[in-house]
Amino acid sequence: MRPHTIIEPFRIKSVEAIQFTTREQRETCLREAGNNVFLLHAEDVLIDLLTDSGTGAMSSAQWGALIQGDESYAGSRSFYRFRDVVSDLTGFTHIIPTHQGRAAERILFHSVLKPGDIVPNNTHFDTTRANIETEAAEAVDVVIAEGRVPSLVHPFKGNMDLDALERLLTERGDRVPLVMVTVTNNSGGGQPVSLENLRGVRALCDRFHKPLFLDACRFAENAWFIKAREAEHAHRTPKEIAQEMFSLADGCTMSAKKDGLANIGGFLAMHDDGWAAAARNLLILTEGFPTYGGLAGYDLEAIARGLEEVVEEPYLYYRIRSTAYLGEKLIASGVPIIQPPGGHAIYIDARALLPHIPPLQYPGIACVNALYLEGGVRGVEIGTVMFGRHPDGTETPAAMDLVRLAIPRRVYTQSHIDYVAEVVAAVGQRRDALRGYRMTNAPEALRHFTATFTALD
Ligand SMILES: *Cc1c(COP(=O)(O)O)cnc(C)c1O
Repeated sequence: MRPHTIIEPFRIKSVEAIQFTTREQRETCLREAGNNVFLLHAEDVLIDLLTDSGTGAMSSAQWGALIQGDESYAGSRSFYRFRDVVSDLTGFTHIIPTHQGRAAERILFHSVLKPGDIVPNNTHFDTTRANIETEAAEAVDVVIAEGRVPSLVHPFKGNMDLDALERLLTERGDRVPLVMVTVTNNSGGGQPVSLENLRGVRALCDRFHKPLFLDACRFAENAWFIKAREAEHAHRTPKEIAQEMFSLADGCTMSAKKDGLANIGGFLAMHDDGWAAAARNLLILTEGFPTYGGLAGYDLEAIARGLEEVVEEPYLYYRIRSTAYLGEKLIASGVPIIQPPGGHAIYIDARALLPHIPPLQYPGIACVNALYLEGGVRGVEIGTVMFGRHPDGTETPAAMDLVRLAIPRRVYTQSHIDYVAEVVAAVGQRRDALRGYRMTNAPEALRHFTATFTALD
């Protein structure tokens, strides 16, 4: 039998209390945070869905591995264990640990980009885009058209638009030093990329002699979607599928805070000797010696074990199902979300939920703040605040105004998720009363982290 109830495939060995607050207390907290939930004290949040990055629960095997960490400055045993696991999974020649994903991005882009270069991607994540733009290069999103329509159901909305990529490589290919694909497509709703599409991107990269890099943060969740939705791969293990995904690429950037099941860490991996040498030179300057790259030996142990656990079927089955479960509850309560539910998060379509709030009055912020005030749930705006500002200082509406409810790995139980669904439904019922915001302090780069807002009447 395949039971209808999908249970958490673990039991709980250690617990952490969460703090209940009153609505009045939350009003004060949010006011003091300048109406930006990034500036709240985390202990004033009841259910924290700000991000799934670094917020997961480690297993007893990972905690056990920590004590085996070898803190030798050079040639640590923990590095070789980490390297062997990453190399078995990805097949890449050079494996360079970094303190998190954006460090891998910065090192890669700073060593290979020059001003005026172009990097295509299905949808660039915020740190990826920022690290490209910092090099005075251009980050171009070429996701399929279906991937830009929140309500449209498609099994692989993260797919690259192969025709658009071909056009870009034909017309401006001389300015493209590498092509990237983000699996799953975080900023596009945690949507997967099919193996067929990745093969298509590979073929174009071969034709135009361009290296292909994966932004691999959620490679295991992507592998699960391929297994579930691409019939010819249904019989394969998630690990085998992940190995094929990596085999189609020439390198990857990775945040181990996502599908590494660790609280910190990342890596940059690739085949090219010249690029790897340049990356290691920069690594030594800003992260550390190449066998630890800004991490403790015990971090490398935790990541190595995490990368083994994350491709286990019971884990992935539960993980993807529990995200879909929240999505189904929100749909049932009439709240528009990106369809179908993604891997690590549910994305509320705030522009559709709050049509009376124009994008430049930040419907995503209105929704995020209402969720916090209503029930102490913290989500994050992925919309005009995050992506609306251009390098020249002008502002236009982002493609979508979303609110992401990211689900930390192995942290919350089904009753926590039931509670979140109730809070979202309550906000949905009061949607007409919500008002927009004006930005009162707007930093230049990655402004969503530290901007402050004033509510409009
Ligand atoms: C989180 C993330 C990054 C950056 O990783 P950090 O560890 O947060 O620096 C890059 N790309 C994607 C798709 C991500 O989700």
